[in-house]
Amino acid sequence: MEQLSLEKSVNTLAGKLSYNISYAKAATRAGKYDSILEGQHPDITLVTCSDSRVLERALDDEIGKVFSIKNIGNRVEPNLGSIEYGVGHLHTPILMILGHTGCGAIHASTRDVSGEHYRIIRSLEFIKPTVAEVQKLLIKKGGIAVYMADHPPWVKPVSEEAYFETLVTEANVDRQVEAVLNDDKIRELVYTGKLMVVGAIYDFKDIYSPEKGAVFVININGETDVEKLKRLNVLSSDGKVILDKIKRLLVY
Ligand SMILES: [Zn+2]
Repeated sequence: MEQLSLEKSVNTLAGKLSYNISYAKAATRAGKYDSILEGQHPDITLVTCSDSRVLERALDDEIGKVFSIKNIGNRVEPNLGSIEYGVGHLHTPILMILGHTGCGAIHASTRDVSGEHYRIIRSLEFIKPTVAEVQKLLIKKGGIAVYMADHPPWVKPVSEEAYFETLVTEANVDRQVEAVLNDDKIRELVYTGKLMVVGAIYDFKDIYSPEKGAVFVININGETDVEKLKRLNVLSSDGKVILDKIKRLLVY
């Protein structure tokens, strides 16, 4: 046995299983699974990044409430089957595409990734057109420095690089919302009022607010205009909490 080379893996697995022993004991004692033994009843289908800092429990820590799909860069296309299961079979009224600040996939996509493994390149390729789209938009608007002066981050100044990556992160979420709305079955659910597709950003880099792990809405059913979003009829009654969470940097 190659014990030496496996040492780290064995220690890690032992650590995770020890944690799990305590977890399962506590969960059983507290009856955390009792109401969901026969089936799951999540109320949100979530597509987000695999990044270990992006946590479902930032939205809901109750077991069985978040139907979660993760991949690098929160892509829709490779997981349309899982998304369809969440909205079509589990009938969640919300499908959220959640990007995040400080995303490694976005960062890598703004650079040369030709040295990466081909599967990683393939996973990142989908962001490249969005990088170009944001660059072209900024050219039209007078360049990134001019744009940043007009739309500063809310909390503290950030580098042009971090700012640009945040714009690409928002644009990528918008493109993923478009991608789900291009799916016939999902579009029908939205069209008939059974489903709302929400584009959002999870921020722990103090760009949108100083609260780490805060989630902000940037897109609802394809609408990206903040003023229009705030006027949506559907948000007028119970929507105050939503209104306060609508915030975005990228204006088309
Ligand atoms: Zn990420």
